[in-house]
Amino acid sequence: MDGTLTWERAKAKYQSFKAQAKKWVARFKHLGPLKYIFEPCKSSDAIYFPTGPAAEYGKVGCSIYVGCYGGCGYCYRNDPILAGAIGGSEVRLKKAFKSEAHAFEVYFKELFGGPGGRIREEIREHGIFFTFTSDPGLPETFPLFAALIGETVKLGIPVQFLTKFTGWIDTEIWDDLLSIPEAKKYLSIGFTLTGRDDLEPGAAPNEERVAALRYFHNEGFKTFVSIEPILDFECSFTIMIKSSAFVDLFRVGLESHRKYDKHEAEMFVYDLEVVPWFKNVYLKDSLLQLLGRERDSFPEKFVDVDFRP
Ligand code: SF4
Repeated sequence: MDGTLTWERAKAKYQSFKAQAKKWVARFKHLGPLKYIFEPCKSSDAIYFPTGPAAEYGKVGCSIYVGCYGGCGYCYRNDPILAGAIGGSEVRLKKAFKSEAHAFEVYFKELFGGPGGRIREEIREHGIFFTFTSDPGLPETFPLFAALIGETVKLGIPVQFLTKFTGWIDTEIWDDLLSIPEAKKYLSIGFTLTGRDDLEPGAAPNEERVAALRYFHNEGFKTFVSIEPILDFECSFTIMIKSSAFVDLFRVGLESHRKYDKHEAEMFVYDLEVVPWFKNVYLKDSLLQLLGRERDSFPEKFVDVDFRP
């Protein structure tokens, strides 16, 4: 997959994926307790428990695809340690999966991997984050993720969806997801904002992402924004101001291995403290470490890692 899949073809794939997702939910709901009672799922290929900075976004993640053609100069997937497994611009299935059909089976088997074939409690409690190893809003990734998300929210499991792309919003796939009554209750939609389009040549412009946040907020969805990595404190602050009226939670973090000016960081966080219209702000551990401050030294609007709007 090289970024040339049209939304028309994506729609056709979605119809088939949706049928597969429904089939697996029906099978695990009704046959799972019999078939899998002695086979609880321990390790995980599709659903897993992230560690480190990723865990500050979600305690449970879903990873089906790797690669992305957003072209962001700072993309963590291209870190030398990770690049072999998840880097590059070609969108492809993770090696663990033989096919997309196989990915559906594994995902729902893991979801229903609790005792007696029930939904695993840790997943029900924390919800699932889509996704750390690609972008879920591409024509190559959205059809499968939309099919998974549709069945997941119907089961009453919270989902966080974080993207830098907006093309999926004007598709019939999104219209179909939107028509699911549980979607507004369980699906939170997030965009990463840096204010630096020049460093994200393949992604939607930041202003378009802000417009999308306004749309989702007005539609009644919970919204969140990842201000990570901060590439320029002033750009990050400006884009936060522009989007603040439509955002229920900001998560703010630094780029790994980069040297930041501590004084600039202090001024940035001071501005976040004094400007009254930022509702809920989560400062990631990387930023607190640079500041040398404890989380409980901040006023109430600076929320902790478990906060969900
Ligand atoms: S959009 Fe996200 S996953 Fe894609 S290149 Fe940019 S940072 Fe990486």
